[in-house]
Amino acid sequence: MKALSVAPEIYPLIKTGGLADVTGALPAALAAEGVAMHSLVPGYVPVLEALGSAQEALRFDDLFGGPARVLSGRVAGLDLFAIDAPHLFMRAGGPYGYADDATRFAALGWVAAQIGRGTIAGFMPDVVHAHDWQAGLAPAYLHYDGGRRPGTVMTVHNLAFQGQVPPHLLGALRLPPAAYALEGVEYYGSIGFLKAGLALAERVTTVSPTYADEIRTDAGGMGLGGLLRVRGAAMVGILNGIDTAVWDPATDAHLAAVFDAERIAARAANKAAVQARLGLAPEPDTLLVGVISRLAWQKGMDLLAEALPALLAAGGQLALLGTGEPALQSSFAAAAASHPGRVGVLLGYDEASAHLIQAGADVIAVPSRFEPCGLTQLCALRYGALPLVARVGGLADTVIDANEMALSAGVATGFQFAPPTRDALEAAIARAVRLWRRPDMWRRLQRNAMASDVGWARPARRYAALYRELAAQPTAR
Ligand code: ADP
Repeated sequence: MKALSVAPEIYPLIKTGGLADVTGALPAALAAEGVAMHSLVPGYVPVLEALGSAQEALRFDDLFGGPARVLSGRVAGLDLFAIDAPHLFMRAGGPYGYADDATRFAALGWVAAQIGRGTIAGFMPDVVHAHDWQAGLAPAYLHYDGGRRPGTVMTVHNLAFQGQVPPHLLGALRLPPAAYALEGVEYYGSIGFLKAGLALAERVTTVSPTYADEIRTDAGGMGLGGLLRVRGAAMVGILNGIDTAVWDPATDAHLAAVFDAERIAARAANKAAVQARLGLAPEPDTLLVGVISRLAWQKGMDLLAEALPALLAAGGQLALLGTGEPALQSSFAAAAASHPGRVGVLLGYDEASAHLIQAGADVIAVPSRFEPCGLTQLCALRYGALPLVARVGGLADTVIDANEMALSAGVATGFQFAPPTRDALEAAIARAVRLWRRPDMWRRLQRNAMASDVGWARPARRYAALYRELAAQPTAR
């Protein structure tokens, strides 16, 4: 079974968010399932540098405004195809946000469709798997080109990013006039990249079962709810995993002390280290709540700021690592200034501190308003920090709330609250504080949390099964 992954990011070469973690981790996990996955990515500077003297697999005289090549090579355990097109991808800044993004990512989808048709000798994929709006036109080109083609899967990692571009670009994007239709790429008077993929791929997946349900509603569908209801039968939610080698408390070099489920007490040294690094009072018996997050409305960080007085009144401490909206940054910086020793704030993106906080905090709070899957709570489970999460999306699917029944059955792994409001968040904090006073019960939850299956093996089985299903029905094409 051969698959082509098409994505604008891949860890460890280019990353702005969780999508890169997924596309970087899936190929190795799928290999264990008998799926050989190649990944097609734009040839950004760091990608081409990592590829070095790669082999030329394809050449185009004119790829949307300039000559281009597809380079093929193996980097960091990944079988890569990179689009070497300096006029599109050789830019000084980040991977997105340019005036010609429509063309840049149409090129990604178009090249994916070429490779999907077997234009690279010796590589005929059974399935083309597109990730997020940047890859959304890949299923569309394969659909409109006609002829024999592989199965197609569109995965949405965050419905908030949809890739809408003006309709007059249709021809320039090499789409046929017929594509501009309700059942094609047309989207509220524009061309919708994500919409195209969701409408035209044979299967749609998203990154948790609950998010799959939420985005089928008008409230959660962000304009695509109707289409996703129509596609209902073709859509599934498959949870993400995390890289359990990178996130392993037994070997993690960022920690003050390594630990595992048999040596949870060793977490104390990490808690002390977090308190020291963030200027918090060195109090082993105080409930330490950690937050590692983009500071954004999606992440409910304003709710957290509102609930902070209640946490402090209950005797807790907050250790926050994050970066994002300036207003939220200032509000947390001000909270740290007015509550010295109780609120510690690190503004910035810091991988090492993220690992340490996971290992030292007693609770990791994720009060998101919506969360397709969420990775922070998966890391928290593995590190024995009890996740305190809004009951939305993947957060609802991965944390077992410490309600009375779950506590007495001994299966709880954290705390959930709903709806995403200050009151509900404060109530969950109060529950965590009450449970913190029962150390035996707390330890039980930590053991449960650390036993949660958060790796990639299970999701990889689901993707492999989906690919096999598609490969078994080429008659539809
Ligand atoms: P999203 O991709 O929406 O930001 P996810 O939970 O899916 O949210 O993935 C974010 C990942 O980035 C998590 O592993 C989280 O711990 C990490 N992260 C977020 N903010 C920071 C930060 N400031 N420093 C280090 N890691 C961070």
